[in-house]
Amino acid sequence: MMSAALVEVLYLVAAVCFIIGLKRLGSPATAVNGNRLSGAGMLIAIVVTLVDRSIVSYTVIAAGLVVGSALGLWMAKAVRMTAMPQMVALLNGFGGASSLLVGGAEFLRSELTGQQLALDTSITIQLSLLIGAVTLTGSLVAYAKLQELLSGRPITFPGLQALNAALFLTIAGLSVYQVLTPDSILWPFYAVCALSLVLGVLLVIPIGGADMPVVISLLNSYSGIAAAMTGFVIRNDVLIISGALVGSSGIILSQIMCKAMNRSLTNVLFGAFGGGGGAAGTARSAEGLTVRQVTADDAAVQLAYARSVIVIPGYGLAVAQAQHLVRELADLIEKRGGEVRYAIHPVAGRMPGHMNVLLAEANVPYDKLFDMDAINGEFERADVALVIGANDVVNPAARTDPGSPIYGMPILNADHARSIIVLKRGMGSGFAGIENDLFYDPKTAMLFGDAKGSLTALVSEIKAVA
Ligand code: NAP
Repeated sequence: MMSAALVEVLYLVAAVCFIIGLKRLGSPATAVNGNRLSGAGMLIAIVVTLVDRSIVSYTVIAAGLVVGSALGLWMAKAVRMTAMPQMVALLNGFGGASSLLVGGAEFLRSELTGQQLALDTSITIQLSLLIGAVTLTGSLVAYAKLQELLSGRPITFPGLQALNAALFLTIAGLSVYQVLTPDSILWPFYAVCALSLVLGVLLVIPIGGADMPVVISLLNSYSGIAAAMTGFVIRNDVLIISGALVGSSGIILSQIMCKAMNRSLTNVLFGAFGGGGGAAGTARSAEGLTVRQVTADDAAVQLAYARSVIVIPGYGLAVAQAQHLVRELADLIEKRGGEVRYAIHPVAGRMPGHMNVLLAEANVPYDKLFDMDAINGEFERADVALVIGANDVVNPAARTDPGSPIYGMPILNADHARSIIVLKRGMGSGFAGIENDLFYDPKTAMLFGDAKGSLTALVSEIKAVA
C-alpha cells in the first residue's frame, strides 16, 4: 500500500501528463510526443491504482497487462489507415463497457453485502450504467457500419425518435426509482442496463455511415463522461479528471467537425444524411457544361514549369493510398525550383486529421502543410492548384448556391488559382453527393484515373521534361 499523499501526488502527475499531452496533440509537429506523454500518464495512473488498491493478485494484474498490451499493439500495427475510425469506435465501446461493468459491479457489491450507498454514489452509478451502455452498443453499431457489416445507409422507421424518447424517459424513471428505493431490489438495475443497451443501438442506426466520424467523436465524449461518473462511484480522482478531459475534448472535436461541414450536431444525429455517398439536398445538374480533359504528359509539363503549386488532398487520395507518390511528385517539382505547399481542409477525408496522418506517413514535412485559413489567401498567386481526390472541400457552390446542401461551408479557394488540375477517376460526386462547378471551370483540366495511376504517370512524365 502507498501513502494516500503519494497516491494523490502521482495522480496529479498523471493528470498533468494528460493535459500537456492533449495540448501537444494540437499540432502535427508535437503530436507524437503528446501521445507518448499521455500514454506515460496513463501508465502511471494504472500502476498507482493497482498497487494502491491491492485489488487482485499481482499474477492476474501482470497477465492482464501483458494480454491487453499485446492485443492493443497488434491492433494498432495491423489496422489500415482508412480503417482507423472503426478502430477508434471499437475502443470507445470498450471504454463504455468498462464504465458499465465497474458501475454495475459496485452496485451489485453493495446490494450483496447489504451496504447502504450514499445518494451521490447511487446517482453516479445509474449515470455510469446509462452512458456506459449507450456508448458500448452505439460504438458497436458505428463499428459495424464502417466495417460494412451493417448497411451504411441510415436505418430508420416511423416513430423511431418517439420510441427513443420513451425509452430514455423509462430509463430515467427506473433509475430514480432504484436510487430512492431502500429495499434490495435488482430488477430496475437489470432493466436500466438492458434498455440503455437497446437505446445505444437505436440512437446510432439512423445515422448514415459517412457521418460516423462525428458520431464516433461524440461517443468518445460519452465514454469520457461515463468514465468520469465511474470515477465518482469508486472515488478515484484521476479517473474523474481523465474522463472529464475526454468528455470535453470529444464534444469540442464534434463541434469543430460539424462547423467545418456546415451542419449542426442535431442535423448529424437526426438528419439521416449522406447514406454512404447517396445524393442529398438540392443537387444541381451540370447538363450542357463540358469538362476539359488533360493527358498526364501535358499536366506534367504544366507542373514542371510552375513556380508555385498548392496540393489539395482529399478522400480519394486516401482511397488510392497514393501519398508516397504525391511526395515524390512534390520533390521533383521542388528540384526544378518550384514551391509546393499542401492545403488541408479540416474535414477533408473521412476523419479528423485524415490528411495530416496520410501525408505524415509519406514524411511530408509539417511546415509544408497549411490550414485553410493560412493558405486561402495564397491561391491567387499559385500557378497550379493540384486537386487530388478532393471534391466537396473545393466546391464553389458552398459560396454561391444557397440551395446547395453545403452552402456556407468554408472551402479551399482552388478556383482562385491561375490554373487547376484535378485528379479523380471520373465525374463521381463526393460525400455530399452533388455536382461541382469547379470541374467545369475553363481554368480546370481533369486528369481522369485512379490517383495512384495518375500520379505514377505524372512522376514518370515530369522526369522526362527537359
Ligand atoms: P469527397 O468530397 O468525398 O470526394 C472524394 C472524391 O474522390 C470523389 O469525388 C471521388 O471521385 C474521388 N475518388 C475516390 N476514389 C478515388 C481514387 N481511387 N482515385 C482518385 N479519386 C478518387 O472528399 P473531400 O473533398 O475530402 O471531402 C470530404 C467530405 O467528407 C466532406 O463533404 C466532409 O464534410 C465529409 N466528411 C468528412 C469527415 C472528416 O472528419 N474528415 C467526416 C464526415 C464527413 P471519383 O469517384 O470520380 O473518383
